[in-house]
Amino acid sequence: MRVGFVGLGTMGGAMAANAARAGFDVSAWNRTPGRAAELEDLGVHLLASPAAVAAASDIVITIVSDTPDVEAVLFGPGGVAEGAAPGTLVVDMSTISPSATRQFAERLAAKDVAMLDGPVSGGSEGAKKGTLSIFIGGDATDLERARPVLQSLGTTITHVGPIGAGQAVKAVNQVILAGTYLGVAEGIVLAIKAGLDVEQTVAALSGGAAQSWVLANRSGRMLANDYPLGFKVALHRKDLGIALAMARELGASLPVSALCEALEAGLMGQGHADDDMSAVARSIRGLSGLES
Ligand code: NAP
Repeated sequence: MRVGFVGLGTMGGAMAANAARAGFDVSAWNRTPGRAAELEDLGVHLLASPAAVAAASDIVITIVSDTPDVEAVLFGPGGVAEGAAPGTLVVDMSTISPSATRQFAERLAAKDVAMLDGPVSGGSEGAKKGTLSIFIGGDATDLERARPVLQSLGTTITHVGPIGAGQAVKAVNQVILAGTYLGVAEGIVLAIKAGLDVEQTVAALSGGAAQSWVLANRSGRMLANDYPLGFKVALHRKDLGIALAMARELGASLPVSALCEALEAGLMGQGHADDDMSAVARSIRGLSGLES
């Protein structure tokens, strides 16, 4: 099966590598040339435009930053819609707006191109290891077409409803993460202030009810006050923007997400947009007079 990747960032680069290692015939494009050049060693064909990738693919995976970016790679000049033959399947694995996703699917359907939304969770680690959780919205028969390549990218693939439903599930995921990151950051600050052995505290807690992926994988960064990139602050703020817009539309109140979004906006204003999202701990540390 011929698989195309549009977007070779932290996630897309690792995912394209896994698809190539699994034996798919992979072609790819990235806006900034030279990024993920090592993919060529895995036999990935780096092409000149999303349209060229679409023309060379049965299934095209888009994984770029935000809603306008997906629109640009699908429908802009040299976009996927220009090159895709009728019958092509697009799987957008970026995290974007559910309502825009539904509109994109309609525009592609007018060209006889099908679309699934398949946002992911599991971080840069999950993308590298091929252990992502994938939330699929769209037609069940399209999912069965995409399943072999999705299985090279993730271990948990859940069909959660019609087109756009994957993005709605992802918004729920990001809301839960907002609370978890803030909670772990507060716990680390209290442990430091109490003079505890923080690493021992984390190890002791990890067998109990406070255990979480964030506690296991990000508390060390919060203790060290060093935030090497996995998932950018700017991207999580973008995701909370999606969740908060949904909440306004649906009449839901999300006070912790609103707080987290405001803290992330402050971090971005201080030059931390490209830090890992665990840098929300900078804000929480600063409130207690710790180095931030
Ligand atoms: P990233 O490292 O910042 O990469 C973003 C990618 O999108 C790059 O390839 C970038 O191209 C491309 N891009 C952005 N705007 C574009 C545009 N207008 N036209 C063409 N290409 C464009 O981001 P990432 O971490 O891979 O995240 C990608 C998506 O996955 C986001 O929606 C994010 O929310 C989601 N996600 C990320 C994680 C994570 O842990 N990182 C986890 C789950 C989901 P350039 O190289 O030219 O900038």
